Amino acid sequence: MKFKDKIVVVTGASKGIGAACSRLFLEQGAQVVMLDIWEDENPIKGSHFIKCDVSDERSVSGAFNHIEEKFGKLDFLVNNAGIQKYGTVTSTTLEDWDLVFNVNLRSMFLCAQKAIPLMQKAGKGVVINVASVQSFVSQKNVVAYTTAKTAVLGLTRSIAVDFAPEIRCIAVCPGTIDTPMLRDSIALSENPDEVLQECYDMHPIGRIGNPEEISELIGFLCEDKCTFITGEAIRIDGGLGITIGGSKR
Ligand code: NAP
Repeated sequence: MKFKDKIVVVTGASKGIGAACSRLFLEQGAQVVMLDIWEDENPIKGSHFIKCDVSDERSVSGAFNHIEEKFGKLDFLVNNAGIQKYGTVTSTTLEDWDLVFNVNLRSMFLCAQKAIPLMQKAGKGVVINVASVQSFVSQKNVVAYTTAKTAVLGLTRSIAVDFAPEIRCIAVCPGTIDTPMLRDSIALSENPDEVLQECYDMHPIGRIGNPEEISELIGFLCEDKCTFITGEAIRIDGGLGITIGGSKR
């Protein structure tokens, strides 16, 4: 019960990495507020679900007003909601560019803006921003996503320097993780099995990650034993970010 009496907000919490984080914090005794646009018919037992579009200022304000009324403080914010759209600079529509930036970056700004004053009431807090290995290396055809995820590192540093020492802010940068986001995206290809195998092969560790591996790291970073870590971007990517690929020999 490491997180007994702690209040945690997780965004994009209904599926994938967000759902794994919500389960981990609940199992460790925290009160977990799950924010998502998609409402699961069988929400995680014991959590507090608020339907919220985290890219929308009014929706975020409403959610955090409710959190303040109910709990009066906040300990951890996991800025996890994200989407990916395919396209290069010449093929991405302005609409998709704005959507990707709004869901992946603006949401983090909006939620942190509301969360930090509640953490200051608690005396301390941790903001975790879920970025990506694509904050460092780029896949083809996802210009908006890789650009937004790179900007997340700047936001992370700024929060860390502006609000230290009480508030810590850390970016967690996963490689390919087996979530609905990944499965939906490979389902668009002609041969999903082949694409999944490619995903396995491109990680030196020889497999993709699972959401629980990411939630374990996020939980660890929120613990008091990590109070000397802030502003950092931590890769958890099976070595994907250290390879230049190439010959299979
Ligand atoms: P996921 O399976 O798609 O789950 C994300 C959840 O966020 C979904 O329930 C989604 O709802 C929700 N969401 C989308 N837009 C939202 C909004 N505007 N407001 C509130 N909730 C919203 O994604 P995931 O793979 O777990 O990814 C979580 C985070 O990890 C993302 O930031 C992603 O970029 C990052 N990441 C993932 C991978 C990977 O390989 N999976 C790798 C690196 C980084 P809908 O399904 O209805 O859209």
